[in-house]
Amino acid sequence: MNNPYDVLIIGAGLSGMYQLKRMRDLGFRVHGFEAGSDVGGVWYWNRSPGARFDSESYSYGYSWSKELLQEWNWSEHFAAQPETLRYCQYVADKFDLRHDFSFNSRIKSAIWDETRRTWTLTTDDGTTASSTWLITCLGPLSAPTPPNIPGRDDFKGEAFHTATWPHTPVTFANKRVAVIGTGATGVQTITQVAKTAGHLTVFQRTPNYCAPLGNRPITQEEQARIKASYDQFFATCAATTGSFLHTADPREALKTSAEEREAFWEQQYYAPGFGIWLGNFADVGTNAEANALASEFIRRKIRERVKDPVIAEKLVPKNHGFGTRRVPLESGYYEVFNQPNVELIDINKEPIQHINPHGIQTNERTLEFDMIIYATGFDAVRGSFDRIRIEGTNGTLLQDAWSEGPTTLLGLQSPGFPNLFTIVGPHNAAGFCNIPRCIEQNVDWVTGFLIHARTKGNTRIEASTSAAEEWTRHVYDMVALTLFATTDSWFMGVNQNTPEKKRTFLAYAGGSPRYKKRCDAVAADGYRGFIQN
Ligand code: NAP
Repeated sequence: MNNPYDVLIIGAGLSGMYQLKRMRDLGFRVHGFEAGSDVGGVWYWNRSPGARFDSESYSYGYSWSKELLQEWNWSEHFAAQPETLRYCQYVADKFDLRHDFSFNSRIKSAIWDETRRTWTLTTDDGTTASSTWLITCLGPLSAPTPPNIPGRDDFKGEAFHTATWPHTPVTFANKRVAVIGTGATGVQTITQVAKTAGHLTVFQRTPNYCAPLGNRPITQEEQARIKASYDQFFATCAATTGSFLHTADPREALKTSAEEREAFWEQQYYAPGFGIWLGNFADVGTNAEANALASEFIRRKIRERVKDPVIAEKLVPKNHGFGTRRVPLESGYYEVFNQPNVELIDINKEPIQHINPHGIQTNERTLEFDMIIYATGFDAVRGSFDRIRIEGTNGTLLQDAWSEGPTTLLGLQSPGFPNLFTIVGPHNAAGFCNIPRCIEQNVDWVTGFLIHARTKGNTRIEASTSAAEEWTRHVYDMVALTLFATTDSWFMGVNQNTPEKKRTFLAYAGGSPRYKKRCDAVAADGYRGFIQN
């Protein structure tokens, strides 16, 4: 029996939308499934207060339609979530993408049939669909993890995880609000909620090194300049390690005088975007001594901005180095802790014991709240795969195959799971990337491979075990050259709400240009390392 589809796609975020368009334009019979009621992926789900880009807006949008680039006006240098969701919807309208997606359709299982060389998807309402090729476009941060605190479900007030935020307005005025978690999402949420909450209590376990975002509206003159500069922006992104507009300064902190270092950091700290992280001295991310100097600079900034020295000390990170976790970019975060309506609780000193119907019980106090916000992160990269029963050859579950850490080839396929491509999957440059740039690279590469297969008449592609093991070794070799593995973070697959998960590196630390070069070399060599027939 022929498959009704050549290609099935899971997810209608930025990856799924582009992948679907490319397949359809090339005449592949394609269909997509999306759990949400519309397109947008991360921007559809994460509607929490203050959610916005940390990439410059004009470096983030799709690069593949010059018409779209000229039509769309970003209103701010770092646009907020509602605008990005509108952008995704605009793209879907313009290219009629919704037509080939089924919405409100969460995929429960994906089962490989070796005899028929077919993947069969089943949704939560029992709908099934089959295809030769399956492309997951799940996003690296789409499996939210509410905290595993006893009594969580007993709370009678409003309670939200930031990644499943309601679509209706939520107000904080006169309310006693708790926020648990101080990662990039918590930092954005706290800053926004503090503006109107009656009282805000922040529960922090690990303080992060946050730095100013430097956001502002885009003026008319800037808009014209931006529209004339897209080729240049994308060329810059293609050349930088993380595909952002920022790139490491070739100088080394350890070989630069203290005065020059200070002046540079002072300027980078206040410059918009990730300059202080990705545009820092080249050795800050790789040399512990250089990193210690940069860490001390940011600590000093925190102490300067927070008036009460006791509170400041709670906010100063001490157990990891600057930039070894993603740096949250903020707009007045530290000043929030100077407000009389805000309290910071260090849960290392005052642990949460349980949640009760009216609030949170710590080891010292009973605190009553009207609302609890969980900014407690994600089961990153692997989590959204594990939430689907993905069965490969001989009935092997992907979740079992990856239990000791994924083995992948280019972060795009795993042995034992033929014809399954994982856009922005584990070991893929996307983990550290200004993600649409890496999404486009991933989608274009997979698309090229499927055209190649169609031309050759191949209907089965599987990463060889030896090639996947070699790539996975390379992934670990690359991260060993950096300081990322020196601390816990979602890059390392660590989330305290998923203690069953093994600590393992989930991204690719060799940089997107090197990653792309490897992908291109594999393609040029007839897709070396992939068994094709
Ligand atoms: P995250 O970085 O994993 O932070 C989760 C926070 O919740 C951490 O502070 C964590 O503490 C805390 N936490 C988790 N479980 C807890 C528990 N049971 N009890 C108390 N605290 C708990 O997640 P995120 O903030 O959602 O950010 C994830 C990533 O999303 C970011 O790194 C970034 O890549 C992306 N993001 C980007 C933007 C943007 O500006 N574009 C904004 C938001 C997010 P510990 O650190 O101690 O574990």
